Amino acid sequence: MSLVEELDRLTRPGDLGEKVDDSSVRCLACAHTCLIRDGQRGVCKIRFNRDGKLQVPWGYVSSIQVDPIEKKPFYHFLAGSDALTFGMLGCNLQCDYCQNWLTSQALREEDSERLSGIIRKISSDEIVEYGKQYGADVVASSYNEPLISSEWARDIFIKAGQAGLKQVYVSNGFATPDVLDYLKPVIQGFKVDLKTMQDDHYRDLGGRLQPVLDSIQYAHQLGLWVEIVTLIVPGFNDSPGELADIAGFIQSVSPHIPWHVTAFRPDYKMMDKPRTSAAQLLTAVDIGKKQGLNYIYAGNMPGSVGKYENTICHNCQSSLIDRRGYLILKYRITAEGTCPDCETRIPGVWTEHPERIHTAGPGFPRVI
Ligand code: SF4
Repeated sequence: MSLVEELDRLTRPGDLGEKVDDSSVRCLACAHTCLIRDGQRGVCKIRFNRDGKLQVPWGYVSSIQVDPIEKKPFYHFLAGSDALTFGMLGCNLQCDYCQNWLTSQALREEDSERLSGIIRKISSDEIVEYGKQYGADVVASSYNEPLISSEWARDIFIKAGQAGLKQVYVSNGFATPDVLDYLKPVIQGFKVDLKTMQDDHYRDLGGRLQPVLDSIQYAHQLGLWVEIVTLIVPGFNDSPGELADIAGFIQSVSPHIPWHVTAFRPDYKMMDKPRTSAAQLLTAVDIGKKQGLNYIYAGNMPGSVGKYENTICHNCQSSLIDRRGYLILKYRITAEGTCPDCETRIPGVWTEHPERIHTAGPGFPRVI
């Protein structure tokens, strides 16, 4: 059986679609809002119309493992916790510099059959059971774009919530209000890539800027804990003006939203650009500070960016969490989520059991 046939069998009718006529449906799971006629596929290639019904992924993962939540990255959502993370296949965007392109661009690349065998059938109960067995605090949908398999994620997340785990999305944010409303009851954290502030650059990646900005604002308005990542790609989005625009937009939503500026390495179809240097990340940090952001982190260069891996109280400047890469070296936020020195409430979602945070490094990832 080919990969496409296998994936098409692992589907069921989806919730996030509306009937347009007897044979056509409109998918509402992402901002493409594809009009899909009978027998056709959406832009993501994963959701399709069979006999007038929208079919969506169900009952499999392409990978599942336990990661530190810092890897997502979430630095203000149960920092120091373990996240049972599952990935599927496919994406609604087509970024030339994708660092997960093997799975995200499945079904688009001509040789995607090389992924045959990667599919693992699994039930939502089994996923949650793994979470409990491995002592995870969070279940995360990540590695590819989770929006395109939101019905399946929702099923897992409902059961994870019943088991006492929290739930997060690691998304490109090219979402609709419909999908955010659908997810709101079952997720608490939403990490978004804000890749550029230039609409034409977003179009080069297969998307548009405005829906991403709208989704960040709406997710924040819904009360989800939002963190933003910008992969700093030299020559693509690293001009001081563009970085100031990104930081200024985040600040306009909330100065407390963490902004992660992370280092690019050449990958996939973008091999002509250099790696991001530590100095370029630190320039982005400075720009973010000037725009009034309280929490800016430099990522993908452990040990090279000084204190900008650490969480520092925005009120008294005490160091609250010291990190090296994904490793927590020191954790001082109280069980009430406050700074122990000035008692300021630190924005985010924090463990009520700081004594359980392991600071020695448990040896990640743990592949299941
Ligand atoms: S998830 Fe997005 S790309 Fe995929 S079918 Fe739905 S609207 Fe189209």
